[in-house]
Amino acid sequence: MTTIAFIGLGHMGNPMAANLVKHGNRVLGYDLFPAARDAAASAGIDIVSSAHDAVRHADVVVTMLPTGRHVLETYQGKNTTGLLDAAAPGTLFIDSSTIAVDEARAAHALATSAGHRSLDAPVSGGVVGAENGTLAFMVGGATPDYEAAVPLLEQMGRRIVHCGAAGLGQAAKVCNNMILAISQIAVSEAFVLGERLGLSHEALFDVASHATGQCWALTTNCPVPGPVPDSPANRDYRPGFAGTLMAKDLGLAAHAIELTGARAPLGLMSREIYDAFVETGGASQDFSGVINMIRSQSTP
Ligand code: NAD
Repeated sequence: MTTIAFIGLGHMGNPMAANLVKHGNRVLGYDLFPAARDAAASAGIDIVSSAHDAVRHADVVVTMLPTGRHVLETYQGKNTTGLLDAAAPGTLFIDSSTIAVDEARAAHALATSAGHRSLDAPVSGGVVGAENGTLAFMVGGATPDYEAAVPLLEQMGRRIVHCGAAGLGQAAKVCNNMILAISQIAVSEAFVLGERLGLSHEALFDVASHATGQCWALTTNCPVPGPVPDSPANRDYRPGFAGTLMAKDLGLAAHAIELTGARAPLGLMSREIYDAFVETGGASQDFSGVINMIRSQSTP
């Protein structure tokens, strides 16, 4: 039986940890937020009184925290001893939070210089994927550490990809979500233009979903109600993947673009568009709701 410390039991962490419990692991959980601890306890997670208590007895530490700052502070300690000092040497640290590539590399360097093993393993698939154990994991780190983690990651996810060295899991995540944002905006602009031209949603969908405009943002996350009955547009844009999370990920993409000098004007513009979407009421809507902002900004 593997003992796993799970730090950060929010929307994603709680169901991920619950799946590890269902597969027979001992999961010692901790979250700063009392309601998150209570919810996790009722899902069978063994709640301990501090992150240190969780980590001290663990073979593996999984973190699922809001940002890179949280991960680095938790690893190093802010006003207390960090988790890296509390863990036994050789502990496998897996960070599944979505954080910047350079932050992931910094976390990895801290962990390995403290004598631990380390992976970045961000996910896609959202809360539903976390609940159903169908997440996709994008993993960065050394091959033996990746191989050691795969059996646990398979208990929380369906598709596990080793993307390369430390930080490259986050690199894959940021690049994928930049494609997603740009394509969701492109599909939304096309529907709004089609409306202006008198083209029905159904006709555009029937053509583009079988033609070269075909993409996930159209065929699964269709931003207009009707053509794809399960898409968030049919339930008043309830997420799905919330606008605020897309804006966060595009901020990480913009940071990576700046650090590397890659030319990515559409990536930067998609960030501006999603920041505006969040500021105008889209924060907790599905990110496909951006179509309504695009429509409302079109000239009357
Ligand atoms: P969340 O805010 O629901 O959960 C984060 C939890 O971490 C909170 O409960 C918070 O109290 C806890 N926390 C913060 N600092 C802590 C600390 N020092 N010690 C212990 N607990 C601490 O966020 P979430 O939706 O679960 O997302 C977690 C990460 O996963 C984020 O990086 C997010 O970008 C990423 N992600 C989220 C989704 C999604 O659909 N929600 C999808 C993919 C990736």
